[in-house]
Amino acid sequence: MTPLVLPAIAAALLVTLGYAMVCAASPFGTCRKCTGLGFALKHDRRGNPKRGKTCRRCKGHGKRIRLGRHLFNLAHRTWRAGTR
Ligand SMILES: [Zn+2]
Repeated sequence: MTPLVLPAIAAALLVTLGYAMVCAASPFGTCRKCTGLGFALKHDRRGNPKRGKTCRRCKGHGKRIRLGRHLFNLAHRTWRAGTR
């Protein structure tokens, strides 16, 4: 075994743990498509900002559930269904 394997595993674990903590602290992230606006920003002919179509990815909420939280929700639902 190369001596670099253990620190690499430790680093990966730390990143995973940190991400899990971020997911626990704030399960929702800002929508990357509309940057939290909830709609596409358009401009009219004069260049004034105008409200475009409602964002399809977040359905106008401007927030999106984090992947980690989504996975946790799926696992939690499965666990609840099994223990009931
Ligand atoms: Zn959006």
